[in-house]
Parts: sequence; C-alpha cells; structure tokens
Amino acid sequence: MASAPTAPAATQLSIPALFARQRGRAEALRREAVSSRAARLRRLDTWLTDNRDAICEALYTDFRKPAVETDVTEIWSSQTELRHTLSHLEQWAAPRRVGTPMALVGTNGWVQAEPKGVTLIIAPWNYPFYLAVDPLISALAAGNAAIIKPSEMTPAVAELLARMCRELFDEAEVAVVQGDKEVATELLKLPFDHIFFTGSPQVGKIVMRAAAEHLTSVTLELGGKSPAVVDETANLRDAAEKIIWGKGLNAGQTCVAPDYVLVHEAVRDELVAEMRAATQRFYSPGGRPVSESDSFARIVNDHHFGRVAGLLEDARQQGAEVAFGGTTDAAQRFIEPTVLLDAPADSRIMQEEIFGPLLPVSTFSSLSRAVDLVNTHPKPLALYVFTQDRENQRYLLQNIPAGGACVNETILHLAHPELPFGGFGNSGIGRCHGHAGFMAFSNEKSVLKQRVGLTSLKPLYPPYTNTVSKMVGLLLRWL
Ligand code: NAD
Repeated sequence: MASAPTAPAATQLSIPALFARQRGRAEALRREAVSSRAARLRRLDTWLTDNRDAICEALYTDFRKPAVETDVTEIWSSQTELRHTLSHLEQWAAPRRVGTPMALVGTNGWVQAEPKGVTLIIAPWNYPFYLAVDPLISALAAGNAAIIKPSEMTPAVAELLARMCRELFDEAEVAVVQGDKEVATELLKLPFDHIFFTGSPQVGKIVMRAAAEHLTSVTLELGGKSPAVVDETANLRDAAEKIIWGKGLNAGQTCVAPDYVLVHEAVRDELVAEMRAATQRFYSPGGRPVSESDSFARIVNDHHFGRVAGLLEDARQQGAEVAFGGTTDAAQRFIEPTVLLDAPADSRIMQEEIFGPLLPVSTFSSLSRAVDLVNTHPKPLALYVFTQDRENQRYLLQNIPAGGACVNETILHLAHPELPFGGFGNSGIGRCHGHAGFMAFSNEKSVLKQRVGLTSLKPLYPPYTNTVSKMVGLLLRWL
C-alpha cells in the first residue's frame, strides 16, 4: 500500500495525521474565549511588523516585486484587515438577537456565530503572502484551525509562510503544507469544514467538485475579465492614470486588474495619449526604458511569460495595432506595459483573462453597446466605470452584473474592509474581508429559547380536533 503523502517543510506529519491533530484541537478552539483569538491575531500583527524586510525580500526573489508594492499590497493590506478584525471581533462574535413574531411570543431568538472547525486555505501566486494571510485572519478570528497550501510557483513566499506559522502557532492550530496540485488533491480528499480557495475558475471547479464529496462549504475567489468602461464625459487624464496604475500593479498579475478598456469612440485617441503619458510618468521617468524601472515587477515564471507573450503575438497576428509598448524579454520575464487597439472580439486576448501588462482598448458608440460587449463574457470580478454623468453611472452599474465595482477608480474597493469582496458566478462564490470574511469561516447557529412553557404551540399538537382546526384558521387569518 502506498504511504500517505507527507506535508513537507512545516510539519513531519502525514497530511491525514496533521488533519487529525487539527480536528482534535478544533474542539478546544471552539471553547476558547474571544480574547484568546484576539491574542493570536495580535501575535501575527507583531510578526508582520517585525518581518517586513523578509516579506519584501521573498516577494522580490519570486518575481522582482517592488518593495513599495509589497508594503502596500501584501503587508499594509494584511495589517489593515487584521486591525479592523481586532477592533470588531467582540461585536462579530457576540450573539445577535432577532425580533419575535406574534405566533412565537414567549420565546427569544438569536444567531450565534460558531467556528466551522478545521479549514483549508489554498492560495495563488499573484499576491502569495496577502492571499494566504488575509483568509487566515478571518479563520483565526472565527475560532478555527487552518491548513494553508501556498502556491508552488512562489517558493520563497511559501517558505516564509511556513516559517511564520512555525514561529507563531502550534501546528494543531495553523500549519502550512507546501506542494503543487498533487498535494492540493490529497488535501481536498479530507472532510474539511470549510475550504477557502483563491485561484483560477478552472481549478475552482475542481475544488468545488472535491468539496461536494463531503458537502463542505466553499469560498471561491476566482478571476476573469474585469472591464473598464470610459464614457465621453470622463476626466480622461484621471481615468488613464488610474487604469494604467491598476494594470501596472504587480505587472498586471492582479485578479481585479482592469483586463480591457471599452471607451467611447469620440475620446479613444485622447484616452490612449493620456495612457501613454501616464505609463511614461510611472515607469520611464526621464526616458529610461521600463525594463530598467524599479517600480515594475516581472512575470512570475516562464510558463506565464510564454502565455502572456503568446496573447500579444496572437493579437498582433489577428490585426491588433500596438499603440505603445510591445517589447518582451524572455530572459528577464519582462513584458512592457502595452496598449493594443482593435483586437478582434474573437482573438485570445479578448476571450481569456490576460493576467499580465497588456491592455486591449476597444470602442463603443452607445452605452447599451458597451453593456452588450461586457455581458458577452462571464460575470466579471470587478467593473470599473469612468464617467462624470450620474445617469450613465447608474445605467452601467445596473446593467452589468459583477462581483464588485468602482466608479472613477480602480482596485480600491478591494482595500475597503467594510466592503465584502468576491465574485459572481464564474468569478467566484462567497465573500471575504472584514465581517464577511469572519462569517465565511463561521457557522450561523440559529437558537430559539422557550421562556414560558405555556406559550408554545402545544394547543396545536395532535389529535387535530375541530378546536385545533379553528385555532389554525385564526392563525392563518390573523398572524
Ligand atoms: P491556480 O488556480 O492555477 O492555482 C491556485 C492554487 O490552486 C495553487 O495553490 C495551486 O497549487 C492549486 N492548484 C492548482 N491546480 C490544482 C488542482 N488541480 N487541484 C487542486 N489545487 C490546484 O491559480 P493561480 O495561477 O495561482 O492564480 C491566478 C488566478 O487566480 C487568476 O485567475 C486570478 O484572477 C485568480 N485570483 C483571484 C483572486 C480573487 O481574490 N478573486 C485573487 C488572486 C488571484
């Protein structure tokens, strides 16, 4: 018989043995005071502050992520979530009383959030630290044990996460299991109490199928093609800066990066000129080539470099025009910020999630046409609307279903801890961040307490005599 796969690096236990240990501890975690959960979170907060350099170094090793971007999108975002959670934890964990309907007078009702138990967090490579730590914060706040499976594509960060968890937690509470899809497949065979997956829609389907085997609840944070729609009333310089910033961050490897732009035909050329100017200001000040910029990351590995470069090549062959950019360097895994015009609707770049610094720009002549173009794709994770016209804003928000949206902004809805974050359909199931993240890792136990025996529904118990029937009649009529 083949031996059970071991969970390398963070633990000497086999995956099933680690799971069993966490299952045992989950019972104790369930009984813990909220203050113990908060103490765990505070330790994590201190570790993040003390290890800022190590986090930046790991991200730089994996894909030359600029330290400023790591500070903002991996460390600050994690600590914002953590501190928001700490300041609301007592309130979220407290029972929530509900009103009593007339028919149930004499009872009390409340909803009690309880830990789900042993949870699995599968993280992607694009924000490899934050997207492991952010769900961990919610899992711990809700009182769970957790196994984290980081992405194998960012090994320096995976190793750092393993060290972080060894230093902070007993592995019966939090453990990191490193490995690729085979390790993930082994983990997914186990009856976890919740699976929090961040990654592609394709793998999301595999995760959901595996979860169905145990009827395990899932949060699926997936991706897709997030459009930016720019109408003729928009402040074009502002829109261009925000779109180029959102696209250039992490070299376009962001789940909510503007994937493509739809702009009113009357202002396309002006918008493209502003985007070119913004790209120069951000990434080639003084005319230095973008490849020498310290503010622009690399593509994570050769496979993804080949995929993104292939999208560019295919678009060119299909007749798209490169407005600016277009340089690639395989040895550096560098792809220049590139704006493409007139990519055909059936070209791969207009069909697949780009996940790299390529930005196709298409035009529309009426807003309804823009809506139709977006809605030919599966529902996006994010929708970006640039307009000064309130009616156009209302129309676009009402007619394009999406996980989330920004008006005259990109990306920032993700950073707001009071805004639940997640997708819709192909871009995801469930919500994370703040209270929504806490609830994703909690079971809402609804409790009804009978205060006075006499006021129960006993008069309606069998046998169903005429009196009972009359009382039910009154109930239907009056209550
Ligand atoms: P991915 O789906 O390839 O991998 C994600 C994780 O799943 C990794 O840990 C990987 O090891 C694991 N995995 C891969 N194949 C598996 C399998 N067959 N069974 C079980 N697990 C498997 O995604 P990625 O390439 O790491 O990340 C990019 C994708 O993630 C993009 O689509 C992006 O939009 C999406 N994403 C979404 C969010 C969000 O918050 N909604 C955030 C970041 C990334």
